[in-house]
Amino acid sequence: MKKFITTNAKQTQKLGEILAGELKGGVVICLSGDLGSGKTTFTQGLLKGLKVEGPYTSPTFVIMKKYKKNIFHFDAYRVEARDILNLGWEEIIAKKNNVIIVEWADRIKKIIPKKSLWIKFEWRGENKRKIIINN
Ligand code: ADP
Ligand code: MG
Repeated sequence: MKKFITTNAKQTQKLGEILAGELKGGVVICLSGDLGSGKTTFTQGLLKGLKVEGPYTSPTFVIMKKYKKNIFHFDAYRVEARDILNLGWEEIIAKKNNVIIVEWADRIKKIIPKKSLWIKFEWRGENKRKIIINN
């Protein structure tokens, strides 16, 4: 487990960018934490680190966004596990090369693989966030 404190959005993005360099394919990156805690900000850094071209918009209103061939960004805020399954979830997580980022992953825990990487975001003040990476 690694814990970080960031004091602005750029730092949170940077952390995502650094993590991207350590990722292997076939991983589900599960982001949890309240609204405004920094999940999308962190994802922007991750995508940058994965060499995805911006602009990256939050998929909150589309549930899923696919970047490049193998990078998927889900947002489970407004949906049920069943809705995610209906988007081809099982196939997506089965592919070794895929990198799958899920905001609000705790809402669909029952379909998240056991070996996933969990990252928790905590609001600690207007510009301060605590980020806990579990691996
Ligand atoms: P979530 O996706 O968890 O709802 P967002 O990343 O969309 O959260 O929003 C986080 C908001 O908090 C953004 O407006 C961002 O600019 C702001 N913010 C301030 N400080 C930080 C920080 N240290 N890390 C991340 N976001 C921060
Ligand atoms: Mg978000």
